[in-house]
Amino acid sequence: MNYFNGKKLIILDRDGVINKLSRYYIIRRHDLVFIKKSLLAISNLSKNNYFISIATNQSCIGRKIIKKKQLDEIHSNFKKKLKKLGINLFHIAYCPHHPLKNCNCRKPKPGLIDEILKIKYFKFTEKWLIGDNITDLLAGELRNFNLILVKTGLGEKKLELVKQKKFKNIYICKDLKEASDLIINYDKKSNFF
Ligand SMILES: [Mg+2]
Ligand SMILES: [Zn+2]
Repeated sequence: MNYFNGKKLIILDRDGVINKLSRYYIIRRHDLVFIKKSLLAISNLSKNNYFISIATNQSCIGRKIIKKKQLDEIHSNFKKKLKKLGINLFHIAYCPHHPLKNCNCRKPKPGLIDEILKIKYFKFTEKWLIGDNITDLLAGELRNFNLILVKTGLGEKKLELVKQKKFKNIYICKDLKEASDLIINYDKKSNFF
């Protein structure tokens, strides 16, 4: 990765953006069923020098449905899969808490985003947050990210709610692949001027 071109950050929600929503929680690696072209999208972004991270609410731990160790295993397996495609995932931040805990990391709070922003000392000049729920977007807005709602996962259902909220920098995309194309072209355009 070109270090000097690398000050661009993408934070992805996981469930409903990268992988399909499951009827229950994702508790085994095989539950992670990828949305069509989502891995291609991540690969394209990676080739264009974006730091790619994931911020995901995983209250299944707080609800005692799975153990932290199991979730870490799912994630390390996912990272391995990406590595085979030549993608280095920058960081996976997750909130393990039960919603009643009222922690600072469960989206719409910005704690997971802050965790990711803290890792690098330099300032990211371009920041994108991609989610399928209004809670993802609210967290991103608090830290001035450009926002993308994808229509996969809960996205289609949340569309009206998101429109009512009148976010400042928001784009609506069919899926992660369309979102990645938008970001890459957006970047090319802004370099042009
Ligand atoms: Mg989601
Ligand atoms: Zn939390």
